[in-house]
Amino acid sequence: LKCSKCAGDAVIFLPYAKTHLCERDFNAMFEKRFRATIRDFKMIKKGEHIAVALSGGKDSTVLMHLLHRLKEDLPFELVAVTIDEGIKGYRSNSLAVAEKEAKALGIEHKVFSFKDRTDMTLDGIMEKKGGKLPCSYCGVIRRYLINTASREMNADKVAVGHNLDDMAQTVMMNLMRNEPMRLARLGDPIVEEEKLIARIRPLLRSPEKEIAVYAMLNNISLHFQECPYARHAFRAHVREQLNATEERYPGTKFRILNSFLAIQPMLRRGIESAPEMKYCKTCKEPSGTEQCMFCTMLEEIKEGGAMLNK
Ligand code: SF4
Ligand code: ZN
Repeated sequence: LKCSKCAGDAVIFLPYAKTHLCERDFNAMFEKRFRATIRDFKMIKKGEHIAVALSGGKDSTVLMHLLHRLKEDLPFELVAVTIDEGIKGYRSNSLAVAEKEAKALGIEHKVFSFKDRTDMTLDGIMEKKGGKLPCSYCGVIRRYLINTASREMNADKVAVGHNLDDMAQTVMMNLMRNEPMRLARLGDPIVEEEKLIARIRPLLRSPEKEIAVYAMLNNISLHFQECPYARHAFRAHVREQLNATEERYPGTKFRILNSFLAIQPMLRRGIESAPEMKYCKTCKEPSGTEQCMFCTMLEEIKEGGAMLNK
């Protein structure tokens, strides 16, 4: 099969664009889209201090490489933070990849663990909770730690590796769960608050599969193992459904993302009068409620309650 642009040998077919691309044209398209996303959403300004949330998986590792190269044209500071949830037989492998890749690029890299910050590993929490809802606990605690860790590393923004598939899944999940506030908040925080580090998602227009292909073509080492808890997630179900729909109707994921981006300003206007940001009575971090989700969850885990088991 031949490249639709230069008639060289194609390495990938993009069904949503009915295009075959050779290695060179694929790399060029992929990098151009990444840079255009940064520009279109004004994600990074010259001189800013960016922390990349690096798991060692393909998305965040490719993101770190792309950001590192972008610095040649747009000077900014780049550091990497990794959150170690404490998942036996999984996280230590990806930590090794994260460390190696950051070191190879000369990027300052720090690891922050659930264990150090909460005195518990995710495995420990799951033992207490009978294995229920791992991703709900993991998500709240990790988000909290990414924010405080980025702040400790003096970051203005934190770059996360969410790709097009993640975005489309998250939009659909919020709709299916009737979570309009969470949908509106997807992206930058609504309330300007200096303790909340803004998140940027430079890969939001990059399909997961293309990120994997880009990594392989560019010899970026990756950790491919899947989290042992992942199969429990509602997300896994939504992912499967969306993949099936995408295969039958190419471009579906892009259309979900674009619909979301089109309605998000309206969603946000609708909740502009949302309750103002308070500070958690326990940890003093920003929170919409008197005690933040992180502290409420830790208390609940320690006391053996059942907040999330309903
Ligand atoms: Fe955490 Fe769930 Fe992701 Fe595993 S799959 S790292 S438990 S959010
Ligand atoms: Zn708190």
